[in-house]
Amino acid sequence: MLVDSHCHLDRLNLDNHDNQLSSAIDAALARGVQQLLCVGISVNNREAVVEIAEKYPQVVSSVGVHPLDVKEGLATENDLIEWSRHPKVVALGESGLDYYYSEDDKSLQQESFIVHLQAAAKAQLPVIVHTRDAREDTLRLIKEYGSETSAGVLHCFTESWEMARQAIEMNYMISISGIVTFKKADELREVVRQIPMDRLLVETDSPYLAPVPHRGKSNEPQYVRDVAEYIAELKGISFEELAAITTNNFYRLFPKAKASLQNR
Ligand SMILES: [Zn+2]
Ligand SMILES: [Zn+2]
Repeated sequence: MLVDSHCHLDRLNLDNHDNQLSSAIDAALARGVQQLLCVGISVNNREAVVEIAEKYPQVVSSVGVHPLDVKEGLATENDLIEWSRHPKVVALGESGLDYYYSEDDKSLQQESFIVHLQAAAKAQLPVIVHTRDAREDTLRLIKEYGSETSAGVLHCFTESWEMARQAIEMNYMISISGIVTFKKADELREVVRQIPMDRLLVETDSPYLAPVPHRGKSNEPQYVRDVAEYIAELKGISFEELAAITTNNFYRLFPKAKASLQNR
């Protein structure tokens, strides 16, 4: 069994699936992907992702405001805690810091990230963290406002081993996307070799970043299998072993996801 720990099911390109999300989910199931975490990115798509989680037994969701969407509107601590009471909402996020495109809204991004970290600590839920070109600030805010008991994940990780190491020390997991299969990703491959197995998750971040050999196509959850097969080889273990370990890690980090699976 395999889990796609991070996908955007409300944004998939469904041209190859007769415009049916159910067909994309079935395609994932057929390749052994039995659980999907559909991640919220804004106050505006919250209802859409929660509805998808309500509709499909294999899907759970998160609620939160992506650092590149902070201008669309912020969520308050009370909003986040309230929304996270839904039985299929298993985490807060994705939140975090992304200074890659511009540093204009740096302080707004930080304000939003702090609110997510504080709400997560109160709700005792993990946080899905998006971080790009903001290593020091990300680690500093997690250290200052995060909760070690609920911790979280650095998703679609592309930063340094030093950053991964410090996050792992704060009880975080590291999630790897299809970027690891890209030709130019030698540095990331080196990082992945060093990540302890008990801290590793796999994801697609679909519809973005389709892994080799699907590069250039629109990404979808079934391709998490390709990511997992690739990482298994990198780690020198079997695919089955990697799938079992990352699935177990997923349920350790997101215990509500396990509960929702059992309540089916
Ligand atoms: Zn992200
Ligand atoms: Zn994402």
